[in-house]
Amino acid sequence: MPGIGAKRAEGLEKLGIETLEDLLRHYPSRYEDRRRAVHVSSLKDGEAALTRVFVRRVIRAPAASRGAYASRIPMKVVCCDESGEMTLLYFNARWMSGVFHEGAEYWVYGTPKRDFYGVSMAHPESEPVREKDSEEDAEESSAKGAGIVPVYPLTAGWSQRYLRGIVRAAMPVAALTPDILPEGIAAERRLAPVAYALENIHFPEDEHGLNAARYRLIYEELFVFQARLFYARAQGSGPKGPDEPSPSDPEPAPFGPGIEPGDLFPYELTGAQQRSIEEIRRDMAGKTPMRRLLHGDVGSGKTAVAAAAALLAVKRGSQAAVMAPTEILAAQHYDEFVRLFQDTGVRVCLLTSGLSPKQKREVKDGLQSGDIAIAIGTHALIEPDIVFSRLGLVVTDEQHRFGVRQRMRLREKGEAPDTLVMTATPIPRTLALMLYADLDVSVLDEMPPGRKPVATRFINSSKRDDAYDFAGRVMAAGGQIYVVAPSIGGEEETEDAGDTPLASALELAEELTARFPERRVAALHGRMKRENKEEIMRGFASGGIDVLVSTVIIEVGVNVPNATMMIIENAERFGLAGLHQLRGRVGRGAAKSYCVLISDSDSELAVKRCETLARETDGFRIAELDLELRGPGDLFGLRQHGLAEFRLADPARHMEILQMANRDAKELLKRDPGLALPGHEALRRIIEAEHGED
Ligand code: ADP
Ligand code: MG
Repeated sequence: MPGIGAKRAEGLEKLGIETLEDLLRHYPSRYEDRRRAVHVSSLKDGEAALTRVFVRRVIRAPAASRGAYASRIPMKVVCCDESGEMTLLYFNARWMSGVFHEGAEYWVYGTPKRDFYGVSMAHPESEPVREKDSEEDAEESSAKGAGIVPVYPLTAGWSQRYLRGIVRAAMPVAALTPDILPEGIAAERRLAPVAYALENIHFPEDEHGLNAARYRLIYEELFVFQARLFYARAQGSGPKGPDEPSPSDPEPAPFGPGIEPGDLFPYELTGAQQRSIEEIRRDMAGKTPMRRLLHGDVGSGKTAVAAAAALLAVKRGSQAAVMAPTEILAAQHYDEFVRLFQDTGVRVCLLTSGLSPKQKREVKDGLQSGDIAIAIGTHALIEPDIVFSRLGLVVTDEQHRFGVRQRMRLREKGEAPDTLVMTATPIPRTLALMLYADLDVSVLDEMPPGRKPVATRFINSSKRDDAYDFAGRVMAAGGQIYVVAPSIGGEEETEDAGDTPLASALELAEELTARFPERRVAALHGRMKRENKEEIMRGFASGGIDVLVSTVIIEVGVNVPNATMMIIENAERFGLAGLHQLRGRVGRGAAKSYCVLISDSDSELAVKRCETLARETDGFRIAELDLELRGPGDLFGLRQHGLAEFRLADPARHMEILQMANRDAKELLKRDPGLALPGHEALRRIIEAEHGED
């Protein structure tokens, strides 16, 4: 395209733009309404507006280009309309000379400042007025700066005008863009055609055009998302891999035939756990691979269900893999599995990137030969050189931490294996059903017995001392303490723009070491080496460390039942769902547990979040309140759901549109599971393209 050289192309690539289509899908982040030019005399201080002015005089900035002095004298452009005079100021903008010509007429858009000296605008956008503008050629003028004008997310150093220009130049492609929505649906839902939508999302005719465009494009995103889930589901519903080992297969791990899931555990399973395990057992006995989501609040005992599922897989002679998002979690699961399986003769291994070459070799060989029945690990599990002999079950824990792609890669290591994904993300049920439309859902809606709700208090820092006094008493009674800080600390810390100074993990650890000299205090954060993290985490789990000061890396999954108190500093820094997950680290044993939220923030929202958490304990309830409080968004970690591909849609905010898209996609894929019918190719191509890329 003219106007895009190698340098520009590179910048565009940074914005994720490689094709004209990408460019058209680079939607404005907002709009400015410049439909009415304002007279200079009616400009209001601080209110951005469009004017149409004559340039009287251009006063260049002095040529002295170096030193602090030069930057303080701007180029001045004195201009006027029939109502008054205004000065445009351009600091450090030598490239601007030559842009304005004395005696010519310009559109000028900017934020005026009115003071004793008159009206001025610093760095307004401008565009020469051309003959045609008077003829109200809407299309032309909106490209230039009048009308409803798009404002784009940009890379540094680029002008809105440039991007607007190339988007405008790419616009003819809009008419050629294939409509991926089947005709019937577009008609029934009264959706604007794609060409119209692309045109109007960039250069809206008016509010109506913009709304129609947004509606159509949001629907389209959600529809493609849902169609992809149903398509994947239809594709994945082929028969499973071989059920019985063939004679040439290596011997499955030796295994006591009589052991049942219930025998693994030192405790009685809850009703919800038993129900889920039965659902899993039924799925696994079925002819098509299991695709199940285990949705349970923090502490509801998902790991036990995963272990039971692994046992069921091993009993059938196949292997199971459990993938966790962090090394700490993987190590913790590993410890628990080893404990549970210790008397069964089933070999369990841990696979993380931290293994020595020798250890890795052993694990690899064991998995390839089938000697090792259960592999627990991080992303290391999906590396290409890891080969399983008979992978029959894939479990992903805290699945929202993984991309769709990563989960798929692990699955591909088996022959259509059963899959179980686990999450504690508190989202309302209705939303969960659509977000996981491709999965069957088991819910753990019951806590293991003997859990007491975590007594939660919200305080400001004037009571901070009391909180730590109390922590001292908890430790005296044998308990352990989590302290959560939003930042790490240390010299590299960049100054944050937050309203209150941030507690840092390192400083807090020092402070608490001084305060509790007889206790062992350790800090844990993301900048630490893996071995050190693991060592500290194990130290805390074994009771060797009393106070663990940590950044949020303890957020998911960590299970240390003897830790009975958590203090969260700068609680305003966390979302409600995040706070709930954090708090879920305590209250995991029989002893009474405490959570203290410390915040001096006067943000109404932060205060409400803390109050809500102090009052509520149920994760699903908290999810709903979260939605009400703040409106949806990445609070739930939806951004992490592998859903980051949305540009305009927000599944929670656009729940009604999502519901329609859900119904339409389901219906369509039922009629045409392979998207093979005429009129469905464009949709299939999109779905498959996004499936295949890495
Ligand atoms: P999450 O669902 O958050 O992953 P975990 O699987 O880590 O929860 O379990 C939390 C704790 O509850 C663990 O210490 C586990 O041993 C314990 N637990 C799980 N199920 C039961 C049960 N049925 N009875 C008693 N304790 C249980
Ligand atoms: Mg867990």
